[in-house]
Amino acid sequence: MPGPGPDFEPGPAELRIDLDAIAANWRLLQARAGKARCAAVVKADAYGLSAARVAPALWAAGCRSFFVAHGAEGLSLRQCLPNAEIFVLHGLSDQLAAFAAAGLVPVLNSLDEIAAWSARAGAAGRPLPAALHIDTGMTRLGLSEASVARLAAEPERLANLSLRLVMSHLACADDPAHPMNREQLDAFARLKRALPPLPASLSSSGGIFQGAPFHFEMVRPGIALYGGRPLASAPNPMAEAVRLAAKVLQVHDVDTPRTVGYGATRQVSGGTRIATIGVGYADGYFRSLGNRGFACIDGIPVPVVGRVSMDLITLDVTALPATRVGAGTRVDLIGGGVDVDALADAAGTLAYEILTRLGPRYRRVYVGAAAGEGQDPAPCAGAVSSG
Ligand SMILES: *Cc1c(COP(=O)(O)O)cnc(C)c1O
Repeated sequence: MPGPGPDFEPGPAELRIDLDAIAANWRLLQARAGKARCAAVVKADAYGLSAARVAPALWAAGCRSFFVAHGAEGLSLRQCLPNAEIFVLHGLSDQLAAFAAAGLVPVLNSLDEIAAWSARAGAAGRPLPAALHIDTGMTRLGLSEASVARLAAEPERLANLSLRLVMSHLACADDPAHPMNREQLDAFARLKRALPPLPASLSSSGGIFQGAPFHFEMVRPGIALYGGRPLASAPNPMAEAVRLAAKVLQVHDVDTPRTVGYGATRQVSGGTRIATIGVGYADGYFRSLGNRGFACIDGIPVPVVGRVSMDLITLDVTALPATRVGAGTRVDLIGGGVDVDALADAAGTLAYEILTRLGPRYRRVYVGAAAGEGQDPAPCAGAVSSG
């Protein structure tokens, strides 16, 4: 068809990650946290955005403490950040010796883990760093109230450890009106009194916006660093850090009523224009966005019509002038008018899951002063990075 011609570089969809925006988000969160130190949660490869890229940018912005989930993530991050404090949320793995050698700080979640790490410290002949996690309502990881009482009664259990932090985790951080926040705050304040005085940490992204009592000595944001909304029901103050753009492969000018996509779930009438994009659920574009999601062209929303295929989606672009959309036209799938949280709402999920599913077929471009514009290889030799 005679099209307006490409306005976007051919090739796979482009995933553009703005390291300056992530650094600016960290600075904003640090400012909101007041006297508390702002750490950064970079588990799951920095929520799918590459810890090897994101963590050095945050270090350059002034962040000194990082949280990962797995021991292997901690070992890999150590290669990027030789001097950072790296907490491992899952506690001890089977790599105890490597942990100690890399100076990782396991977040100990049970009396058994405390005993194992303490024994390792005894064998090493030196105290080893550790954090303690108290469960105040997640019922997921962390010391129970009974275990905390046991530690209070038997403080020698902690003798070999160089304790850096006591922490807990909010179940409803994104909803300040939820009574659970207050309950967990009170439980945390009460339970940590049974332990030696330590810097404390309770808040992930949402808790930072719930006021000073939630800040303690350290806050641990993840999603807000990457541009996700910290609170579900308030305007999002974070800068957009992720932009996913693809090009139109083909446009169909529908002249008589017909259906679009697998299952023929969508009927369209004559006069509709359908643009096909080479991104699908194999790329982490949620299948639940079929007939629900939206993209943007020039900031104008264009709805997903029909089902999401493995490698393709179809958009109703009738709202745009026919001369504007043709093969090669740039379409924003995340960012550029497509708010990642709004997209997640449409998909029935969270921005967290949208980000951590971003697929391997995208061409990743890291921008910002911290990135070295456009450069692609990971800056940390030996570090595991996706993409
Ligand atoms: C993932 C996680 C965080 C970060 O949560 P966000 O909601 O992404 O800010 C903080 N603490 C713990 C224990 C976590 O598991």
